[in-house]
Amino acid sequence: MLRLENVHTRYGNIEALKGVSLDVEQGEIVTIIGANGAGKSTLLMTICGSPKASEGRVLYEGRDITRLPTYDIVNLGISQSPEGRRIFPRMTVYENLQMGAVPTGGKWFEQDLERVFTLFPRLKERLHQRGGTLSGGEQQMLAIGRALLARPRLLLLDEPSLGIAPILVQQIFKAIVEINRMQGLTILLVEQNAYQALKIAHRGYVLATGRLVMAGTGRELLANPEIRAAYLEGG
Ligand code: ATP
Repeated sequence: MLRLENVHTRYGNIEALKGVSLDVEQGEIVTIIGANGAGKSTLLMTICGSPKASEGRVLYEGRDITRLPTYDIVNLGISQSPEGRRIFPRMTVYENLQMGAVPTGGKWFEQDLERVFTLFPRLKERLHQRGGTLSGGEQQMLAIGRALLARPRLLLLDEPSLGIAPILVQQIFKAIVEINRMQGLTILLVEQNAYQALKIAHRGYVLATGRLVMAGTGRELLANPEIRAAYLEGG
């Protein structure tokens, strides 16, 4: 469904991605783990076309999307829930969710909203509260819910567990599995919380300073001694 071929991404003189090649198949959850600054966010942003790859290709459903503007990429069915839960803080939960449905013209909004509430009942309780007053975990739920309302076929999640209380982390990972199983949505997830993220993944990759250094099934990576030492200590 998604293929990256030798993707390089630069910020001026800094090369954040140094030749990344990977595949995501339809229906999979694929996790990319990596330390701070490894290039995880850059990888997801490059798929969305901002910044654009300086070298290499991004293919989605067989089509070269490397040079497409971001809004065209979104319209092809790729939706991202960004790091830092970039929701609209002054808008209510409801209004934030409405914004998510803009790419679909709002046609399925009411029915999709019910599905989001099934995943995240907390959002229904907070519907008329301003986004900025939600807790970190609730904002994360809102960001994922908003991304789902765009009706993507490929969902990109940037560190959904970052800065969230452990109990909400569990809920969010559970919801990710449900979204994948019930809706058949393909998910590419980047995470520092390697243990949880590999546990729910069909396959995973390890990103280190802009290069993929290891690949395997979620189970293989979890059992790998090098990964355990580098990413799972105490996890
Ligand atoms: P984290 O887990 O800390 O968010 P990450 O793995 O997502 O890290 P990126 O945010 O992709 O890493 O950053 C990769 C590298 O690119 C880092 O060295 C970072 O400093 C650099 N970088 C990221 N954004 C920019 C930017 N806008 N301008 C210049 N350098 C950048």
